[in-house]
Amino acid sequence: MAPRLCIKCQSSKAMLKRPKTQEQVCRECFFALFEEEVHETVVQTKLFKHGERVAIAASGGKDSTVLAHIMTTLNARYGYGLDLFLLSIDEGIAGYRDDSLETVKRNELQYGIPLKVVSYKDLYGWTMDEIVAQIGTKNNCTFCGVFRRQALDRGAVLAGANKIATGHNADDVAETVLLNILRGDVPRLGRCANIITGEDSSLPRVKPFKYAYEKEIVLYAYYKKLDYFSTECVYAPFAARGFAREFIKDLEAARPMAIIDVIRSAEDFIFTTASEDKLPQPRTCERCSYISSQPVCKACVLLEGLNRGLPRLGVSRTRGRRGEKAGLHPDVERIVTTQAASAVRWTAPGVSVDKEAVGSSSHGIVELAAAPVSSSSVEPLPAVVASCIAQPKGEEGCAPEGASATALLQEAHTGQGQGGSAAARAGDTVLGLEGGHVNGSGG
Ligand code: SF4
Ligand code: ZN
Repeated sequence: MAPRLCIKCQSSKAMLKRPKTQEQVCRECFFALFEEEVHETVVQTKLFKHGERVAIAASGGKDSTVLAHIMTTLNARYGYGLDLFLLSIDEGIAGYRDDSLETVKRNELQYGIPLKVVSYKDLYGWTMDEIVAQIGTKNNCTFCGVFRRQALDRGAVLAGANKIATGHNADDVAETVLLNILRGDVPRLGRCANIITGEDSSLPRVKPFKYAYEKEIVLYAYYKKLDYFSTECVYAPFAARGFAREFIKDLEAARPMAIIDVIRSAEDFIFTTASEDKLPQPRTCERCSYISSQPVCKACVLLEGLNRGLPRLGVSRTRGRRGEKAGLHPDVERIVTTQAASAVRWTAPGVSVDKEAVGSSSHGIVELAAAPVSSSSVEPLPAVVASCIAQPKGEEGCAPEGASATALLQEAHTGQGQGGSAAARAGDTVLGLEGGHVNGSGG
């Protein structure tokens, strides 16, 4: 049987079925289509201005490696006039980040753009290994996500950047939209699909891959033989892949355009200004002066807990309560700001706090002392008092992406793996993929 031809060039053999559009194309046409779509996104959304200095948040994983490759390619091809550099965060995780940083160092040479590395140890005085030794493996990703978000800002400021470009892809954005719908978080729903965040700040963040499918990023990296890192963080087993992500993958398997449709739906929602007003307005942290939605930023609250030997301070979950916002909960602020003398006790499953033991500083830092509680005179403790910081919602979260990349490629290849059966129903993505080892060095 004659080989199926690429529907674009009609001359080369079709090598893959694009996960996004289901078009059967050859490699070269796939590269061209993928690159042109990112370019269109950049142009249509006016993502950059000529002459800007742009930090590419680089973890060494698939998304950020492809982003670095695409941004340097498009910058040269279309004369964006951007001053690009790689910005990496060293969390201090032996056996993971030290190896992935080696990948980013090679990327520095491969793409000919400088690399700046900032470390948690330098910024906060703690490595993630030291934090895990203190707090265990339950909330480690909360600390890591909050610190990483701020570390990126700090590194970018130190390097004189005007913007930060992150590797968030369409799957990430759709997942965030879904989570905000499920949480009933209307104010955040209005913003989460924005391609630029912090537009009014001095350091906006942009997502050039907002419409790029994760599977296509993986295929691009694979066929281009890009040098990326695909080992999971040693603490990743404790960072469960969310149900929303699983759901998005199932939707995609049933109907590939579902990811884009979820994003477009969020873009088309019309919100009242009243819901916008409910979002905390950006301000600067009273302690560290970096961007924060509260008087004291999450990073400073978490750091305070670590330094005081109260690591649970500032760790919370936001799921479950409608409209609940990340950051210091109003009830927490009420405790802090109301210096009522009455010794009301607050309780919650597994946590008990004597209000007398809840201290406060002029900066609004709450100290939760584990005081024994008697059964009398107790008032239910708002669930978030035990912890006041939200789990990071993927924003600059590490998302152990390398491992997921390998799984996705295997899924594309064999129809097995995460969401594999559904992927098999949707048909093979890769038509002519030679068997071969896919690894972090681009295989
Ligand atoms: Fe940090 Fe990611 Fe590792 Fe969690 S899984 S500790 S967020 S690098
Ligand atoms: Zn701060």
